[in-house]
Amino acid sequence: MAELKIELAKTLKEKPDQNNLGFGNYFTDHMFLMNYTEGQGWHDARIIPYGPIELDPACMTLHYAQEVFEGLKAYRAEDGRILLFRPDENFKRLNRSNERICIPQIDEDFALECLMKLIDVEKDWVPSAEGTSLYIRPFIFALDAHLGVHSAKEYLFVIILSPVGAYYPEGLNPVKIYVETKYVRAVRGGTGQAKTGANYAASLIAQEEAEEQNYTQVLWLDGVEKKYIEEVGTMNVFFAIGDEIITPELVGSILPGITRKSAIELLRSWGYKVTERRLAIDEVIEAYKQGQLKEVFGTGTAAVISPVGHLKCDDVIMNINDGKIGPISQKLYDTMTGIQWGKLEDKFGWIKEVK
Ligand SMILES: *Cc1c(COP(=O)(O)O)cnc(C)c1O
Repeated sequence: MAELKIELAKTLKEKPDQNNLGFGNYFTDHMFLMNYTEGQGWHDARIIPYGPIELDPACMTLHYAQEVFEGLKAYRAEDGRILLFRPDENFKRLNRSNERICIPQIDEDFALECLMKLIDVEKDWVPSAEGTSLYIRPFIFALDAHLGVHSAKEYLFVIILSPVGAYYPEGLNPVKIYVETKYVRAVRGGTGQAKTGANYAASLIAQEEAEEQNYTQVLWLDGVEKKYIEEVGTMNVFFAIGDEIITPELVGSILPGITRKSAIELLRSWGYKVTERRLAIDEVIEAYKQGQLKEVFGTGTAAVISPVGHLKCDDVIMNINDGKIGPISQKLYDTMTGIQWGKLEDKFGWIKEVK
């Protein structure tokens, strides 16, 4: 293993109230950094006190958005253990994003070891109140001070940690979303399948307009025909129609979610018929009209499972399962969170303990 240096903070922050964390508001005492220099590779892996990073105003990331990120969580089990959910998948995906955004590959095993060490240093920050966790944000960005458009020669890999609250403080609440017909998020051949900040920059305007109309997020359609369903803001999406559970196949413009993949594996292990295929919004509307649309739910690390109770497409309003959470969404949520917090047996070998 390459060397990891650790410099501990001299003074520690006061921990925030565990019952009022929200999302991404607080950061721990330390962070992980590692530099890349062309010709030298990745070097100077270090854990240092958390603080601002100095950047040249010409830093290429600020101009051309050469950046990738990840998101996962550390969970505190009842017996005090700290558990990660499929972290190897996150570093694999980070490298796939790197490939698309022309950022050099990282050593996935070393990155995971560094993350485990960082969490160990920050173990007192992993909250234990019901539904809370420690959110982990790895990201890599171009460092060069240069305005020419090309990929950079220097990068910084950073991991920061943030204790976060329960996503649904009042229990699993179905959300309201609408089908976005004006903007598109990604196109095939574009960057939709990479976890890169630029995708979010492109989607903020739709999010703002949705919030103005009291909707939580939008449902994206494909960027070419605006006909086929892709995903929801920060989540992949599933439709239970008749006795089939359908999720859009990964065609290049959809983010390959780890929660999505886990949900498919769980549902299949329970004997459900899960199909990954193109799904037109018209097919969903038709199924609704015939009383065949049983459940709609999103999957993602932040909310795990997010049932959709109200789905609007232009002037068609679909009230799904009377606006209440359905049995499939509930079972998936209970099982996934049960495994994540170490309350249920980890039959699939998804959990990695931090020690
Ligand atoms: C991160 C992300 C998801 C969900 O991925 P998970 O690995 O399940 O957290 C879905 N869509 C987009 C656009 C994302 O950025």
